Amino acid sequence: MAVYLDNLRLLKERAEELYSLLEECRLCPRCCGVNRFRELGYCKAPAELVVSSYGPHFGEEAPLVGLGGSGTIFFTYCNLLCVFCQNYDISHLGYGEVVSEEDLAEFMLSLQRRGCHNINLVTPTHYVPQILKALYIAATRGLKLPLVYNCGGYESLEVIKKLKGIVDIYMPDVKFFDKKACKLYLNAPNYPEVVRAVLKEMHSQVGDLVGKDGLAVRGLLIRHLVMPNYVEDSKKILDFIAREISKNSYVNIMFQYRPLYRAGEFEEIARRPTLQEYAEVVAYAEKVGLWRGFGGREAL
Ligand code: SF4
Repeated sequence: MAVYLDNLRLLKERAEELYSLLEECRLCPRCCGVNRFRELGYCKAPAELVVSSYGPHFGEEAPLVGLGGSGTIFFTYCNLLCVFCQNYDISHLGYGEVVSEEDLAEFMLSLQRRGCHNINLVTPTHYVPQILKALYIAATRGLKLPLVYNCGGYESLEVIKKLKGIVDIYMPDVKFFDKKACKLYLNAPNYPEVVRAVLKEMHSQVGDLVGKDGLAVRGLLIRHLVMPNYVEDSKKILDFIAREISKNSYVNIMFQYRPLYRAGEFEEIARRPTLQEYAEVVAYAEKVGLWRGFGGREAL
């Protein structure tokens, strides 16, 4: 059973509490301080929810997909805005439609009716208050699926702490530990320290990924995209995960990077990673004792 069902009163309180942050937005580490009801911050997201699509997704990690798919909801805009974004039409260009919290609750319930195994919030950071409000509505109408918080890792620690007892599965990316890369490609030079603290907090809340009948029910699932020319940085990330999070971490080491959107402006990331680069990262993960989520190791 999803953890938020045990904490409905807390969920309602948290939604109200976090709503107040929209008037001086500090929902992410950019801390723009704008009143989202009247003006836009770095992410360009208004106070109204904007959703680009929702539906069963079969391309996510196996423990999220099962037979019925992961119930993904893609939120428009993004607080990170990477120059190489694979979904730049949604995140940078704002493709999507304004919906109400009632609508979002109905999307969640319809994903459950369609047989999805979880509610997978894709890029939720800038809409956490509205999402919690929708989740509360859906939960009081019978939603039971585990909640997956699928984010870029650039989160407010204060906000993540308030999601304790609400989120079942955290699924953050860890993009770079190299500060220069974080400045150049993410415009977030403090990304490394932010993501380290956020991963620790997420892990302390939900622990390593655990499942039932092959499906994830609770825990931390970390994603890392192998980038061309950044093998040494990948190794630092894997070291951190093995040493300071857990060797039992489920880590999806991804090979699908393509130089999309503005990546061509940066010579070092203007190509795909080679098979050799990918293999070196995977071999390093094994060397530091990680064993789950990569190279066909999908075991729960
Ligand atoms: S969520 Fe958007 S407006 Fe709010 S602090 Fe982050 S980037 Fe700025």
